[in-house]
Amino acid sequence: MSFSYWELKNWFTNVDFTVVGSGIVGLSTALQLRERFPESKIIILEKGILPEGASTKNAGFACFGSLSELLEDFKNQTDQEVIDLVQKRWMGLNLLRKNLSVAALDFKPFGGYELFLENETELLSDCMDKMSFVNERLKSIFNKNVFQLTTNQFRFGNIQKYMIYNPFEGQIDTGKMVNGLLKKAIKKSILILNSAELKRHTELSKGVEVEVNDFSFFTKKLLFATNGFAGAITNNQVKPARAQVLITEPIDFLPIKGTFHIDKGYYYFRNIDNRILLGGGRNLDFDGETTTEFGETELIQKHLEKLLKEVILPEKEVAIAHRWSGIMGLGETKTPIVKQLSNNVYCGVRLGGMGVALGSLIGQELADLIN
Ligand SMILES: Cc1cc2nc3c(=O)[nH]c(=O)nc-3n(C[C@H](O)[C@H](O)[C@H](O)COP(=O)(O)OP(=O)(O)OC[C@H]3O[C@@H](n4cnc5c(N)ncnc54)[C@H](O)[C@@H]3O)c2cc1C
Repeated sequence: MSFSYWELKNWFTNVDFTVVGSGIVGLSTALQLRERFPESKIIILEKGILPEGASTKNAGFACFGSLSELLEDFKNQTDQEVIDLVQKRWMGLNLLRKNLSVAALDFKPFGGYELFLENETELLSDCMDKMSFVNERLKSIFNKNVFQLTTNQFRFGNIQKYMIYNPFEGQIDTGKMVNGLLKKAIKKSILILNSAELKRHTELSKGVEVEVNDFSFFTKKLLFATNGFAGAITNNQVKPARAQVLITEPIDFLPIKGTFHIDKGYYYFRNIDNRILLGGGRNLDFDGETTTEFGETELIQKHLEKLLKEVILPEKEVAIAHRWSGIMGLGETKTPIVKQLSNNVYCGVRLGGMGVALGSLIGQELADLIN
């Protein structure tokens, strides 16, 4: 098929910026480019009929790390690196709220909790010992203690008496978030092409030739926001990490309200529409879950169901309504890669498990790499 004269003229001529990926980072990048370059022609290429990575698949936690997860980070990174990352997540969340409004995100400030299973006595006592250390480190960001001790007020089963509460955490409706960003992008004349997969790109002297499906066009700048699919452009500094989720049927008199973390962030659950959304378990099969293929496995789904039955809702029989997966982008460190790859090619990738928090800021930083 050949494009018509009109199609070429209106869509694919004088393209200033082409963003690859319509997740939170791609959309935020395009919106920031529009702010900075009001007259420019901006295209977003998206391989899925909807965004097809993590941004519409995630759990909708507006969070910046549970205590045990941050303690793990303090072991593996310098204090300053961890503080900087938490600050970026917090700034990103505030930017997201500013860009889309609390109502548009359906943001609920219910707070977050960390639970400790019966066999996690040591982890709990480590967290209790080091809570003031972490609170002190985070005071420069929050001006208050972030983590505090509380007790099991939700009738969870088979867990330790104490939980850790974080009043700064909230929850959003992930679908509303992306829909809001998409609407904003369309309103600002950003052209979003779905089912358009970038196959190859070639750097030329004044720009980049991009090959999409079975056609190609020229763009002055190419910006990758492909996160879990960015292995090839980053020398494998980004690895795909599948994350599986399930959601229950609606539950009468659901007593649970908030965002909840277990086992250093490997498991997470929340209430939504009188249901429980529960995800995690990648640690049960790291190799199998290092993939860009969507899908659910019996091993992980059965473990999630066990957690649901024994810990989260031990007094109720609940049916599972639906299951899905998404693809995250992880690496050796949790710091995202925002950089220029060649003369006219840039990337903002490796968002890890907290890209809802980081995404708006990383999009802004990526767009701001352009002179
Ligand atoms: C199950 C799950 C739960 C999560 N829970 C949370 C949470 O509660 N809170 C939180 O902060 N974070 C969470 N995350 C992480 C968060 O969702 C991600 O970090 C974030 O969405 C990443 O956004 P992104 O825009 O960088 O990538 P994505 O949303 O993955 O966007 C990348 C896009 O690029 C497209 N693409 C890739 N290659 C090409 C190509 N060649 N051509 C065209 N398009 C291409 C993909 O289709 C995709 O739509 C979760 C992730 C998952 C999977």
